[in-house]
Amino acid sequence: MEPCLIDVALAVPSSGTFQYSVPAPLRDAAAVGKRVYVNMRSRRMVGYLVGFSAARVVDQVRDIDTFVDEAPILTPAFLELTRWMSEYYLCSWGQAIEAALPAPFRKGRYLMKSRARRATAGAEIVDPDRLTLTKDQAAACERVLERVRERRPGTFLLHGITGSGKTEVYMQVIHEILERGRGAIVLVPEISLTPQTVDRFYSRFGDCLAVIHSRLAQGRRVEEWHRIRKGEAKVVVGARSAVFSPVKDLGLIVIDEEHETSYKQEETPRYHARTVAAKRCELENAVLILGSATPSLESYRASDLGLVRRVELPERIEKRPLPEVEVVDMRLPDGKSDRIFSGRLQERVRECLARGEQAMLLLNRRGFSTHLHCSSCGYVATCPNCRISLVYHYDKASLFCHVCHYRSSPDRLCPACRKHYLHYFGVGTQRVESEAAKLFPGARLGRMDADSTSKQDSHEAILRAFKKKEIDLLIGTQMIAKGHDFPNVSLIGVISADTALHIPDFRAAERTFDLLTQVSGRAGRGDIPGRVVVQTYVPHHYSIQSAKDHDYKEFYEKETVFRQELGMPPYSRLARVVMSGAIEKEVVRQVMLLARFVESRVDAQLYRVLGPAPCLTSKEKGLYRWNFYLKGPSSEEVGARIKAALSEFKKLKVTVTVDIDPQ
Ligand code: ADP
Ligand code: ZN
Repeated sequence: MEPCLIDVALAVPSSGTFQYSVPAPLRDAAAVGKRVYVNMRSRRMVGYLVGFSAARVVDQVRDIDTFVDEAPILTPAFLELTRWMSEYYLCSWGQAIEAALPAPFRKGRYLMKSRARRATAGAEIVDPDRLTLTKDQAAACERVLERVRERRPGTFLLHGITGSGKTEVYMQVIHEILERGRGAIVLVPEISLTPQTVDRFYSRFGDCLAVIHSRLAQGRRVEEWHRIRKGEAKVVVGARSAVFSPVKDLGLIVIDEEHETSYKQEETPRYHARTVAAKRCELENAVLILGSATPSLESYRASDLGLVRRVELPERIEKRPLPEVEVVDMRLPDGKSDRIFSGRLQERVRECLARGEQAMLLLNRRGFSTHLHCSSCGYVATCPNCRISLVYHYDKASLFCHVCHYRSSPDRLCPACRKHYLHYFGVGTQRVESEAAKLFPGARLGRMDADSTSKQDSHEAILRAFKKKEIDLLIGTQMIAKGHDFPNVSLIGVISADTALHIPDFRAAERTFDLLTQVSGRAGRGDIPGRVVVQTYVPHHYSIQSAKDHDYKEFYEKETVFRQELGMPPYSRLARVVMSGAIEKEVVRQVMLLARFVESRVDAQLYRVLGPAPCLTSKEKGLYRWNFYLKGPSSEEVGARIKAALSEFKKLKVTVTVDIDPQ
């Protein structure tokens, strides 16, 4: 009898699949999509049967242990999507599968039964208290639905300012999707930060809804997965990984706030939910809606090029006015600096408190306190090649570019205004809090940041207290900027817009514009008009000015000029290669070799290597880390070049990781 040979995907870094044979008594049970126990280097592992092979590829083919499932757990569409992921993101198929499955399945738990309980008919849709759409909303719905009715894939960019009714558009499109017996996935940046959005979906879709979030117990997560797979839950709301939910007859994926960085996974496979969603929609004839007030430059340019259809909601519901944004110039001619509250901000806070309204004070803690900055003229040292902020290293008393490794010694005088006022700027939320306590005695303060919210549920508790008006002044990191709807908030103070602007990243201006626009959207949600005070040392920067004017297009046009000049995304695509190891000299030697090797193998007209340079976190867990970037015409091609180079490169005692489309 011919041996029964199967291809098994295992979640190990090695690229291909592994061949095993199925012992005779198990043959009838062999089916693509089942989990299987195999021995791999004398370890028992869970693998995934992804195909049958006609011929032996190794001399000694080993038998599998047994199958885990009675029925396949992975659908053909899921297998196709994960295989594509493994190619695009340069990981193994098994790694892609495991990233896409709920964790308990990976350990071989929860077998898939062959006679699954009959699906109870999907729950009734709660009678929709549908709103009458505005003209713009109706037009947006109609354009998307046309495509849905054709059952063809397509991507829409729903560009609507904060409060313009995007969520309502998603919900009404979903209604029609459900009427057609199909299902939908709605991705939100971080579920715990968007309780109001989730509540709205609950009240519309009731038991038809499954909400997937990181705090679900593993068992519950598996139950929800089954409920979705059986078609009992037809609408899924969740963060990044919900893009893999086994929704039956998927008609729509929505990515709300599509520009958010949390859609990118920062461990292998380093996928972006937007990229995966687009592929999944293409494979399953579904429609993708990317919604944002501040679309990523990548998505907006795609809509300019006609690759994505752009739909706009230019007005707020009920023509509620956008808040007035005041930009406060923090530069002082005498160069004194480090004030936390300008006179203007203090005044606005006092007015707000006096009226019994609430305020939020925002400090972007992701800012680095290590950039060099002149408090007299606002000058910041940037890399002449990459335009990103240089980072000061105390030990070497130098400024470095973390992309191309440009190095310079800081001047004692500011090179722009020749005054003697270079500072290292850095204030934390705790200092803002203690300063606020002094300036506004009697005000009830709350603080929300990674330190104050490490305890489970504690940020919900803070937000609840704020909502109940038990807190007057809420101080926090960008966490407080997103999604919340507090009708009594009439003032937002941005302590320093510059911390976001000077992160050493070519997207710094985009992040700043996004952040300011998002926080502005938090003010004036109810009937009282909102006000935003933005403190900065670079008041004329276009990202700040465009945010003040609520003008995305103006920002986009200015920012694209720079991106084009530097040939950065969206005018190119990047891959980042990180090498880490215990001996710094070895890491440096090998990363140089690899970078030069890659460079020698690519067409210099189309590709460029940037670096190598030490990573921003140049040492982590005792390992030295260096990186370089490869820039080229498309993600696929850049990835293919790196893959080809790595297959020939002999690395010694170092680990190499590749990040396609790094953030
Ligand atoms: P976005 O998602 O663009 O921020 P939302 O969908 O949250 O906007 O809408 C903002 C507010 O306006 C919400 O309170 C919502 O209930 C309300 N709203 C949305 N569409 C309409 C409509 N057509 N008529 C009345 N109110 C609406
Ligand atoms: Zn540089």
